[in-house]
Amino acid sequence: MTEVPPTSHDGPHAPRRPNISFEFFPPKTAEMEKNLWETINRLAPLAPNFVSVTYGAGGSTRERTHSTIARILRETALLPAAHLTCVGAARGEIDEIVDRYHEVGVRHIVALRGDPATGIGTAFVAHPDGYKTSPELVAGIKKRHPDIEISVAGYPEKHPEARDLDADIDTLKAKVDAGATRAITQVFFDNDLYFRYLDRVRGRGITIPVVPGIMPMHNFKQARNFVTRAGTSVPGWLAEKFEGLDDDGETRKLVAATVAAGQVQKLAKHGVDTFHFYTMNRADLVFAISHLLGIRPNGAKKAA
Ligand code: FAD
Repeated sequence: MTEVPPTSHDGPHAPRRPNISFEFFPPKTAEMEKNLWETINRLAPLAPNFVSVTYGAGGSTRERTHSTIARILRETALLPAAHLTCVGAARGEIDEIVDRYHEVGVRHIVALRGDPATGIGTAFVAHPDGYKTSPELVAGIKKRHPDIEISVAGYPEKHPEARDLDADIDTLKAKVDAGATRAITQVFFDNDLYFRYLDRVRGRGITIPVVPGIMPMHNFKQARNFVTRAGTSVPGWLAEKFEGLDDDGETRKLVAATVAAGQVQKLAKHGVDTFHFYTMNRADLVFAISHLLGIRPNGAKKAA
């Protein structure tokens, strides 16, 4: 696992600074782009190990993902990771996308099969000439560019399509065998699910880091619908915390920060030292949670 060394302010017994990474989605409008860049500029001084940019369902954001990644490379010192899925494109097209990323200096891809073009819950039909599974995509990228680091998805509550958790972990093993060196988990709210998953993953002989994906719930109702469809369970105690707050964004924000900060602090107490934040392109909660993890801005602006 890549680790950030302790800073000069740390005493000999100071806890190690956790590693963090941030996930963004590519903006659709000029307004959203301005907002994303305010977010990136606010979070960059926290010196994340990398920042990733998602790839819209069905490849709908192909150009926007690319231009966001290219701008991050041009204007910041951050290391970007580009998400990429197998959906809706022939192998040749995917290979071209990968080549373009490599050309501009991207050395990290989050490789996914992607959701069915017809929507979550329907059967996945691969493009007739496309990469058919995530392990195939991982192998395809590695074959073209062995110097590209590959992260993949992991599912503590199993992917909705997987027969059971063992079958899901078999797929993770296939991704690792194909060259993936990091798994980032689907969002989860019950830490026990993560630790049980980790035990099963390690029991299967998978040794790569399995980085917990943390999502502060800015908008509980909306986020609950979204994560439930992706197979994440929302515990009753969590729903209770947001009860009665539908029209009270300010309090919701405080509650969301408290809940997510509690989750990461408990994970950290049990030895987890790496966190991936689903930022939803918003800086405030993630900045506060990182602060509570002991992370302070250290200026990651690109040298002039
Ligand atoms: P895999 O891990 O390859 O498969 C998921 C599970 O389904 C496995 O257990 C596999 O065995 C099982 N499975 C697959 N096919 C079958 C089958 N035919 N029969 C039985 N079981 C089967 N989506 C996007 O569109 N863009 C993104 O940028 C994006 N980023 C993501 C980042 C992270 C960290 C995570 C966790 C998810 C992300 N997703 C993204 C969502 C992801 O694309 C979906 O969850 C997708 O449905 C599965 O992709 P995968 O690579 O995880 O699939």
